Amino acid sequence: MTVLEEPIKEVLTLKNYINGEWVEAKTDEIRDVVNPATMKIIARVPRSGAEDVDDAIQAAHEAFPKWRRTPPVTRARYLFRLKTALEECFEELSRIQTMEHGKTIDESRGETRRGIEMVEVACGIPSLMMGYNLEDIARGIDEYVLRQPLGVFGCIAPFNFPFMVPLWFLPFAIATGNTFVLKPSSEVPNSQTKLHEILDEIGLPPGVVNMVHGGREVVSTLISHPDIRGISFVGSTHIGKNIVYKTASAHGKRVQAQTGAKNYMIIMPDCDIDRTARAMMTSFFGNTGQRCLSGANLVIVGEDAVFYNRFMKSIVSYTKRINVGYGLDERVQMGPVRSPDKKQRIIEYIEGAIDDGCKFMIDGRKPKILGPYPDTCFLNPTILKDVTNDMKVAQEEIFGPVMNVIRTKNLDDAIALVHENPYGNASSIFTSNGAAARKFQYEVEVGNVGINIGIAAPMAFFPFSGMKDSFFGDRHGQGGGHGFEGAIGFYTESKVVISRWW
Ligand code: NAD
Repeated sequence: MTVLEEPIKEVLTLKNYINGEWVEAKTDEIRDVVNPATMKIIARVPRSGAEDVDDAIQAAHEAFPKWRRTPPVTRARYLFRLKTALEECFEELSRIQTMEHGKTIDESRGETRRGIEMVEVACGIPSLMMGYNLEDIARGIDEYVLRQPLGVFGCIAPFNFPFMVPLWFLPFAIATGNTFVLKPSSEVPNSQTKLHEILDEIGLPPGVVNMVHGGREVVSTLISHPDIRGISFVGSTHIGKNIVYKTASAHGKRVQAQTGAKNYMIIMPDCDIDRTARAMMTSFFGNTGQRCLSGANLVIVGEDAVFYNRFMKSIVSYTKRINVGYGLDERVQMGPVRSPDKKQRIIEYIEGAIDDGCKFMIDGRKPKILGPYPDTCFLNPTILKDVTNDMKVAQEEIFGPVMNVIRTKNLDDAIALVHENPYGNASSIFTSNGAAARKFQYEVEVGNVGINIGIAAPMAFFPFSGMKDSFFGDRHGQGGGHGFEGAIGFYTESKVVISRWW
């Protein structure tokens, strides 16, 4: 049997990182963090309370005046050090993600790389944060715009990208001169604990970054605290919209809430069958379907039965070859879902679909697993056919390895299906026809569009978009973006100066 190198060797009760110190949470409520592949306990995480969050916000508030006066080039140098330190711990960081989340080691390495890329982009802050000016707006009068930091920002993260998602925000927030309080997902707190150990090592001034473990109480303090100027949230639509966006904006804070998804992959009959089928494997089953950019509904366009049969034969054949097991085993291509309740929820969606008249092309409920692991959190991929767009399974976010096959007549109808869905995170078209691709890109109402791309994930220097029920706010995460539409705009305020000297 393959020997798997697990970096977490001891079950520790995790601490909060406040004002440059590791401190115990002031609570007796501690929960186990379980590796979903082995079902072994790997850490204990505290449910911190309002007092812990308050300490962190106060530390960040006190650190702000000095940090904002630190020149951007000096702030950038901390990020250069962070980049080097992250590269040195690359493999350890990746293995921690697999242990706590379940994704394959290759997926974790991809996640680590994407996280580091955010730091690299934020290193360019002296250029990214520049304002603009115009001389002689009237005789002898000049006018210019400055971009300034605001104060303390909070971040509330989801379980599905334990390392990368907080890095969509943290490097940009501190590079622009703000200070930061992070609440990681309590399901996967180890990656951020390791990241904050590294942040501690690079010698950032105390209070610039802070981390508080916990759940609801931490969130409700962050979104209502008078010293928090803005919130970056990533998670489900229900929490993002009804709790975080509503409350934080009612308290006068900036909010960017990146939320749930139901992504349509539009397959045109002129696509490259083999390449498209392979792209569908990572789209639908990568990260075990627990990605906000995962394919969920596979829409086959046209009535060509020969194309349909050839395409689905290829999809089924690739799907059956996916090795499922513990992600630290390099042979494994799909890991478990994060927890037993998530598995149960996915099975309920599959069974509901069968009750609604769908049929199995592949039934993944009784998983075959590579290696001696309990099946508690494992599923194999499922493919359902005869799905129609009005069904619950096609409308709601399942967040698991389930492909719904929907058939439709033409591209207009396919785009209409996307628009009937409340979400607007991502959608892709697969075609060899440029006119069809352009029409799709032009008309489709989603934030991240793929053309022959299965996971339309924007790079760090572009904003991560999202529309409808997939995003609440007006400035997206990541990226410099033209006109400060992304992270730099979110984390800075513009000040206009009109100046005359006589
Ligand atoms: P979640 O909404 O359950 O949790 C997100 C965060 O909110 C966590 O930190 C959690 O502790 C906190 N939270 C949960 N319940 C709460 C409550 N009642 N009150 C206050 N805080 C609460 O989301 P999740 O399951 O961790 O993540 C999966 C979701 O995230 C999916 O919907 C996925 O589509 C979405 N997501 C979106 C993007 C994007 O960019 N749009 C990216 C990644 C994930």
